[in-house]
Amino acid sequence: MSPFDPRYRRTPAERSVVALYRIAQAIEILLRRRGKSVRLTPTQIDTLLFLKYARPGVRTVGGLAQRLGVTYATASTVADGLERRGLVTRRVVGPDWRVVGLQLTEQGMIQIAHLEGALDSLQAAIGELTLNEQAHFDQMLQVLVRSLQDAGAVQVYEMCWGCQFFRPNAHPDRPATPHHCAFVDAPLADGDTTFECPDFVPAEPVNE
Ligand code: SF4
Repeated sequence: MSPFDPRYRRTPAERSVVALYRIAQAIEILLRRRGKSVRLTPTQIDTLLFLKYARPGVRTVGGLAQRLGVTYATASTVADGLERRGLVTRRVVGPDWRVVGLQLTEQGMIQIAHLEGALDSLQAAIGELTLNEQAHFDQMLQVLVRSLQDAGAVQVYEMCWGCQFFRPNAHPDRPATPHHCAFVDAPLADGDTTFECPDFVPAEPVNE
């Protein structure tokens, strides 16, 4: 039975799938609306955000391909379009000519500042919940993100769960902070493990 079929949408899990699907559609629409004003697609917006916030070592065409979940050639095409618009520059980084770095131009930085507010209305909707509800919602979403990452469906890889410094469940005696970051040598809460981190080092080498 499909959760999209209203006749069978009865369990909380089925209703949640549909609600999350609607939220995903809403995010796409919000990004498209904001991007339309500056003639950028959601993929281009995602690329500019990646280049602003990913750690410098992965701001490459290969890193972008991994982030977008596309081939190297497709990521290169996305970078071409942004380069033509004067939002991104590319250059070979390091001794290996195959590793092409990407950098935001000043104009790219201006554009991304304009685009970052695209999801403000979603944040405002979440802000309508009580603080307890927000904390609970956050906790549940982190569990879902992790599960989807395990299934290979989440492409944001600069998160603890793919980092060589991450020690999952290293503190079973501390339910609030069960994990450990060996880089800063500090315990981590569940909710802290699914954000992009500037100190992330992949457990497996990034395929450039
Ligand atoms: S370095 Fe960053 S990504 Fe890696 S485990 Fe520590 S907090 Fe997580």
